[in-house]
Amino acid sequence: MIKLTNIKKKYDLGGTEVEALKGVDLEINRGEFVTIMGPSGSGKSTLLHILGLLDVSSEGSFLLEGHPIDSLPDKELARIRNKHFGFIFQSFNLFPELNSLDNVIMPLMYSQVPRKDRKNLAIKLLTDVGLSHRIYHYPNMLSGGEQQRVAIARALANNPDVILADEPTGNLPSEKGSEIIEMLKELNRKGVTIIMVTHDNDLGRCGTRKISFTDGKLVSDESMVCC
Ligand code: ADP
Ligand code: ADP
Repeated sequence: MIKLTNIKKKYDLGGTEVEALKGVDLEINRGEFVTIMGPSGSGKSTLLHILGLLDVSSEGSFLLEGHPIDSLPDKELARIRNKHFGFIFQSFNLFPELNSLDNVIMPLMYSQVPRKDRKNLAIKLLTDVGLSHRIYHYPNMLSGGEQQRVAIARALANNPDVILADEPTGNLPSEKGSEIIEMLKELNRKGVTIIMVTHDNDLGRCGTRKISFTDGKLVSDESMVCC
């Protein structure tokens, strides 16, 4: 589904160049649950941003379903991103001025789902993550675990093929983190491809495949027996 070849990413910090990715080759197939591990600063988030079309590489080729994405106009990239990728972040990234329902409806604004059906779909998604009693709550009225569930419901709104998660349990107590991981595993069992950055060794073993980064390079790639 995704094929990266010799991907490099350089950041320009006012004259000083940082090479965050130094030539990454990576193929990800539909249905995998890939965990990405490695020390802080090793390029994990940069890779996740490139995979999710949130950022572009400086060099290298990126094929999505066999098609090069570098030749696509920004508008088409945004369309692909909204349709195929859902994102979950460590700090939840909900809109503070919107309640749970409106946070989940937000990504549907740009979708094919008819306006009249959006509210019911959002309620269903929130119910699926166990939040039917929190639909009209604002993020600051919710616990961290609940905010991350809203974020998952929002990530699922457009029925994505791939969920990209950057340390999704990093701000949660361990038992709440485990619930989030269980949700991701359940989604994976239903066929959603999951790509998750973590620096927690136990969580690194949760997927079907674990890749590790050191200093901008992919240094190991192992199959896992999903725990
Ligand atoms: P990780 O997720 O493994 O902690 P990152 O991908 O965030 O690593 O960062 C890799 C390197 O790129 C680091 O040296 C970091 O400082 C640098 N970097 C990341 N994002 C930016 C940015 N937006 N601008 C400049 N440098 C960045
Ligand atoms: P969780 O819901 O992840 O199990 P908690 O036990 O911390 O976590 O939260 C229980 C309830 O308390 C939540 O439903 C939430 O509505 C409420 N709550 C938690 N933290 C806050 C907060 N900072 N402000 C207001 N309400 C909160």
